[in-house]
Amino acid sequence: MEAKTSSLILLHNATIVTMDPQSRVFRNGGIVIDEDKIKAIGQSLEILHEFSAVADQIIDLQGQVLLPGFINTHVHTSQQLGRGIADDVDLMTWLHHRIWPYESNMTEEDSYVSTLLCGIELIHSGVTCFAEAGGQHVSGMARAVDLLGLRACLVQSTMDSGQGLPESWAIRTTDDCIQSQKELYEKHHNTADGRIRIWLGLRQIMNSTDSLLLKTRDTAKQLKTGIHMHVAEIPYENQLVMDTREVGHGTVTYLEKIELLQKNLLAAHSVWVNDTEIGFLSRAGVKVSHCPAAAMRMLGFAPIKEMLDAGICVSLGTDGAPSNNRMSIVDEMYLASLINKGREVYANGTTDPTALPAETILKMATINGAESVLWDNEIGSLVVGKKVGLSAQIIFPWADMIIVNPFSWSMVPIHDCISSLVYCMRSENIISVMCNGRWIMKNQKILNVDEGEVISMAKQASSELLKRAGIRIPNRMTLL
Ligand SMILES: [Zn+2]
Repeated sequence: MEAKTSSLILLHNATIVTMDPQSRVFRNGGIVIDEDKIKAIGQSLEILHEFSAVADQIIDLQGQVLLPGFINTHVHTSQQLGRGIADDVDLMTWLHHRIWPYESNMTEEDSYVSTLLCGIELIHSGVTCFAEAGGQHVSGMARAVDLLGLRACLVQSTMDSGQGLPESWAIRTTDDCIQSQKELYEKHHNTADGRIRIWLGLRQIMNSTDSLLLKTRDTAKQLKTGIHMHVAEIPYENQLVMDTREVGHGTVTYLEKIELLQKNLLAAHSVWVNDTEIGFLSRAGVKVSHCPAAAMRMLGFAPIKEMLDAGICVSLGTDGAPSNNRMSIVDEMYLASLINKGREVYANGTTDPTALPAETILKMATINGAESVLWDNEIGSLVVGKKVGLSAQIIFPWADMIIVNPFSWSMVPIHDCISSLVYCMRSENIISVMCNGRWIMKNQKILNVDEGEVISMAKQASSELLKRAGIRIPNRMTLL
């Protein structure tokens, strides 16, 4: 007898929000997973009729909601142990006295523990794929991502210039920066069953020489990978670029001039951009990661509505724990919608409740996220096969998806399923998460690591790290 090589899981009786190009939502849908791929999707009755005889497992979802896994396109996994070290402080204190000492004193093991802790929070909020914003020890991150069962584009925090850098970073040359990333690419790209990809990182323009910018652009092209960079975060950054690099406006104008604006650039934040620069980003096909909570705390209102209207692919990110504290993409969906409705007061003199409607927000967290991480052929929507390229080759997307239980006090009654997912859903409504065809959370239990054990490892590693870095958090109120 021939050994059975695949296993079929059939899920039915679910509201399936596919996020496919036709925006199909099945009121009573079914889906079949063949190992790590989506094999079929459709009405429950048809799926049951066709596959129940051959399915190894049949799960009745009893009306729960099935969605593609969310994609967090800007998260500093290494900063998770630094949650709460820089609340309510000004930007310079944040950077020079808290974050840089914290990051420059991290070991690879710290990075591993930090990424495990961050990954647990990401999974609870329905994230199956994320784009790392840049940390010190990519090997530590990769080990954690592999174990957690997540999908990720990892980058090293990369800088070769700038004032006030910690000593160990100040000695790095441009070539060191490029060389170390090439080595990381060799070692980790396409590992963990293809779940890990290595991108190039640029921390920000104020910490990059022109040579680093150009070599990063060329190396990414050569390796056929993406570039993740913090862009136009504060007015001072734009001013410095105008003063030192002789362009009429800030970072985006300069990146356009040196041809760094390309389809493979993921520009985080992009808050301080003018209309001309929005045009540059749109024409070049640059992707923007909007991080509403972090922007509100430190940066300002990004012109997200204008970017979306200009056809720019905008996705959502949480940024790091010291900039936001909550690594929940569910919270970011809610905030993104509210902040951008409210921002219309400044842009047009009155709020606009129709700005960034729920379906747009869901797109930002799924298919736009997939496009931002250059993975939209295989993730971001629940479809059976996507035709790509001129040869119309058919690619079968990975089974990355989440199950939402909407029957709780936070979501009932549901009159408008799509808006409920954005305005009512909490992380607690997400009960199961599958990545690459494997459950990584089931009934709210993280499956691949022991959550309690990671929490105690994190508490210890973080207090030792703060001691080593000499970071002291002043007391508030009257501590007795
Ligand atoms: Zn960031």
